Amino acid sequence: MRATQAHINLDNLRDNINIVKQYVKSGTKLCCAVKADGYGHGAVRVSVAALKAGVSFLAVASISEGIELREAGIVAPILSLSLPLKDEIPSLIVHSITPLVFDEEFIDQLNEVAISMHRKIPVHLKIDTGMGRVGCSPEDAKKLAKKITKTEGLYLEGLCTHLACADSLKDDDINYTKNQIKKFNFAVNEIKGEGINPGILHCSNSGAIFLHPDAHFDMVRPGIVIYGYSSCAKELGIKLKPVMEFSSQIVAIKHFNKGETVSYDRTWTAEDDCDIGVIPAGYADGLVRRLSPGLEVAINGKMFPIVGRICMDQCMVLLGKNHEVKRWDKVVFFGPDENCKTAEDLANQIDTISYEILCGVNKRVPRIYIDTGKNK
Ligand SMILES: *Cc1c(COP(=O)(O)O)cnc(C)c1O
Repeated sequence: MRATQAHINLDNLRDNINIVKQYVKSGTKLCCAVKADGYGHGAVRVSVAALKAGVSFLAVASISEGIELREAGIVAPILSLSLPLKDEIPSLIVHSITPLVFDEEFIDQLNEVAISMHRKIPVHLKIDTGMGRVGCSPEDAKKLAKKITKTEGLYLEGLCTHLACADSLKDDDINYTKNQIKKFNFAVNEIKGEGINPGILHCSNSGAIFLHPDAHFDMVRPGIVIYGYSSCAKELGIKLKPVMEFSSQIVAIKHFNKGETVSYDRTWTAEDDCDIGVIPAGYADGLVRRLSPGLEVAINGKMFPIVGRICMDQCMVLLGKNHEVKRWDKVVFFGPDENCKTAEDLANQIDTISYEILCGVNKRVPRIYIDTGKNK
């Protein structure tokens, strides 16, 4: 197997899920976001472990992601968070993937196909309370809920919205989130006022789970937090455990003389005689090119800088003059251990978020699962 690997610790995943459970009332359902191949961790393995840990719904971004889970034998409800194309509807129904709906045209199309397939399928009505993405206005929710209940092929199983800045500790953002929750409650009450049961109410992404208990309702939708990250966890003293360790190995150590340069464009010159280690991981593996200069990697618990450009498949690490690094030693880019970086450290370095670093770990990197079952 390749030296460059992603080790996925399912014990840590379960610990993070248990932390979420501590923050919600008992009986609150969990819907774990496993889109983008489980944020790069492998959707099937993450889903199976999460379901065994008591999660009841899974959320994906596309029909094909849902099908992957169904083909792996997963029978739990799967919500599709993005809208399918019209010609994907039959496949959605065949695989029992639950769509979000928020406009009359799509409700009609879905209903028509469901009837033609002799099915009555669950839908969740999505309300846009301020995310500005998918969803109907809170004012239109009542009309659409009524429409759904009158169809032959659909039934209203849930009502949801998505929060735009729920992980922020800034006053302005907290007020914005409170206003989103208020708009959601308005729509819920309007629908209930019509005598319609809105079903499962759900709003909370990871941020809201910790910061906005009044957004928990019947089900929460944790994503990043189950993978061990959250921009607000540190401030709140919540100890999440990163699930992925992204690592490689030193495949060669070469001696450089003062004045010699490393990698494309010769951006780094040896200021002194030194050793350089070659690592077979590059931007095609998810090691974003912009991370160098600045990226440091952990080798035997000590940090060393990546020097020169990160190439597509390889990068180089400065070991210096007096070091104890040996060929084949393990190199950790990020992971759960104390003496290495986290995906959030890497993200901060290039002004992005941990999500993007995790999803960016390419498919060609083998995922290796660690599951001692100690916390099952
Ligand atoms: C991705 C997503 C989530 C999970 O978000 P996190 O910030 O990762 O917790 C929840 N709800 C919807 C609609 C999403 O798209």
